[in-house]
Amino acid sequence: AKKAGQGSYRFYEPQMNRELRRFVETRDTLRLALPREELVLHYQPQIELGAGRVVGVEALLRWNRPGHGLVMPGDFIPVAEGSGLIVPMGRWVLNEACRQAAAWHAGGRPGLVVAVNLSAVQFGQGSLEQDVDAALASSGLDPACLELELTESMLLRDEPGILDLVRRWRTRGIQVSIDDFGTGYSSLAYLKRLQVNKLKIDRSFIVDMAGNQEDRAIVQAIIEMARTLRLKTIAEGVEDATLASQLRFMGCDEVQGYLYSRPLPASELATWLRQFDDRSRSR
Ligand code: C2E
Ligand code: MG
Ligand code: MG
Ligand code: MG
Repeated sequence: AKKAGQGSYRFYEPQMNRELRRFVETRDTLRLALPREELVLHYQPQIELGAGRVVGVEALLRWNRPGHGLVMPGDFIPVAEGSGLIVPMGRWVLNEACRQAAAWHAGGRPGLVVAVNLSAVQFGQGSLEQDVDAALASSGLDPACLELELTESMLLRDEPGILDLVRRWRTRGIQVSIDDFGTGYSSLAYLKRLQVNKLKIDRSFIVDMAGNQEDRAIVQAIIEMARTLRLKTIAEGVEDATLASQLRFMGCDEVQGYLYSRPLPASELATWLRQFDDRSRSR
């Protein structure tokens, strides 16, 4: 029995060690990412279906990790959250996104909205409210052009402070949207009471819409209820034109996805926006 125990011990330990070591290694190099200026934001356009114009962009974080190339958020955000690093990183994201949006406004794109993803950990720790204020103040960005993306789980966690904070943001004109909507358990009535502006319908429903009657019905129901409550809807992960026109027909307000563009570095997005304008004019 002792032998078997040792065997399974030997079997599991190296793997746990590997995971732990990878976490520690990622955490320690991630700590240097900010001072070494290895973090970058990419921006993905959000298109209003009715007018066919770009109304906003979502800021998505990437890590230019030496020796690893461009690392995607799925591979380092959990580490950042687990280590508390998400607080200074999230602060950097807010500052950089607001600065960039203000620069676009000055460069001839007034009113372009920038959407920033927030982590639950930022609510729990740190100084989120002050971080948002500081990013707006130092950039001079119109608060109405900042959108903060929350998830349903953040609102349903028993932190009453969050609800008051969301209300204060809304009072100041800051926009608030619910990311990955449909995957949690929040009721639309509750979100309406909270004065959320927009629901981002989760990509999983959108992807399966074409072939799945049930997913189409869910998306239609979300759109209709949102409309009744005067909440905007945006569909995430739209990859083909048929889907986009279907969503338009269903009354969805905005779309975002590879059909239009992948998330792009700021300079490439500026080029993409000019080309989009040219295409719209010649249409
Ligand atoms: P999210 O906020 O739901 O962002 C949408 C994700 O879907 C992005 O992945 C985007 O690149 C991807 N996407 C957009 N259109 C399409 C499409 O047509 N097809 C497919 N297959 N994917 C599409 P990304 O950039 O890897 O980000 C993943 C997640 O990481 C985000 O999901 C968000 O939850 C988180 N994240 C990204 N940036 C930040 C940040 O600055 N702070 C925090 N806390 N989380 C972030
Ligand atoms: Mg998002
Ligand atoms: Mg999302
Ligand atoms: Mg998502």
